[in-house]
Amino acid sequence: MTDRPGFSTRAIHAGSTPDPTTGAVIPPIVASSTFAQDGVGGLRNGYEYSRSANPTRTALEECLTALEGGSRGFAFASGLAAEDTLIRSIAKPGAHLVLPHDAYGGSFRLFSRAYAPWGLLTDPVDLTDLAAVEAAIRPGETVAVWVETPTNPLMSVADISAIAEIAHALGALVIVDNTFASPYLQQPLALGADVVMHSTTKYCGGHSDVVGGALVTADETLAEKVQFHQNALGAVAGPFDAWLVLRGLKTLAVRMERHSDNAEKVAAYLTEHPGVSEVYYPGLESHAQHDVAKRQMRRFGGMVSFRVRAGEQAAVDACGRTTVFTLAESLGGVESLIEHPGRMTHASVAGTALEVPSDLIRLSVGLEDAEDLIADLDQALC
Ligand SMILES: *Cc1c(COP(=O)(O)O)cnc(C)c1O
Repeated sequence: MTDRPGFSTRAIHAGSTPDPTTGAVIPPIVASSTFAQDGVGGLRNGYEYSRSANPTRTALEECLTALEGGSRGFAFASGLAAEDTLIRSIAKPGAHLVLPHDAYGGSFRLFSRAYAPWGLLTDPVDLTDLAAVEAAIRPGETVAVWVETPTNPLMSVADISAIAEIAHALGALVIVDNTFASPYLQQPLALGADVVMHSTTKYCGGHSDVVGGALVTADETLAEKVQFHQNALGAVAGPFDAWLVLRGLKTLAVRMERHSDNAEKVAAYLTEHPGVSEVYYPGLESHAQHDVAKRQMRRFGGMVSFRVRAGEQAAVDACGRTTVFTLAESLGGVESLIEHPGRMTHASVAGTALEVPSDLIRLSVGLEDAEDLIADLDQALC
């Protein structure tokens, strides 16, 4: 038992106390870049200049911190801006990181194309193979193990607490990209991770109308470094964007429940479809890491991938035939999306360790009526 309020209570109230001057229930969008000082250095509540701190961003950062169970949170202009700030806070040239062999393509590109020339070393590893994770960590050199779970688009699930135990024994931090699960479904800090990263563009924002990122930690030393780099590098969330993500977070719990309801129904339908050879959804008992997923996730979320028996062209054609599912990249919004990873989100990783099957389709199952989603897939798959 804890006296901490429940998840939805925190989502709605953390960071959102009524404005002291007007009583506004919703935090105002403070568009000011600078703040009046009461005499030189006389800051009001610490606000000086909006790159360093902005009241709307503070409201979002407090909410994210409360939802992930951390002590400090930081909001950025994008998920990749959050990743860049974190990596520059913990690593210097010559440092080594262990990466998931099926990491988000943009994270893989950041490490392989942007950081490699600066002397950062990485090893992609299958995170479901704990012996391989342990073998890849170089004591004294490996600063962190980067965990993403579930992964995109093959939905593999890494055991966060087992990896934390291995990494910590060898002196490495554990970073979890919690974008696919959201803080409602998965709490990496409670499972032993040192820092959680989000693309708030996805489920946190939840309405496909903002690009943003976040970091949350319970480690004060790490938080100090991130705060310094957030201001020094400057890739902060603007007040309008921070406000949109904060609004999204208030409904995160109800959205994730409905995403999970709908995705479970869609996954069950696809499993029975004769034209589908494989369905990747952590909620299915047939999923290779279903037991780990059940232990560390509240439910299994809205992302479902599957393979089409008739091959690549049939998969591409099906993506062009849906009418309720919109053919588009990204995920996590109220509307359902369909895409062909091999030719869209993962085209840039063809020929690398991250290449995905060409007959694969990825769905971001939204909040429409499940019957309409299933009927749409049924006519598209013919
Ligand atoms: C989208 C995404 C990112 C990158 O976030 P941006 O907001 O697009 O910069 C990182 N990780 C995962 C899992 C994502 O889906």
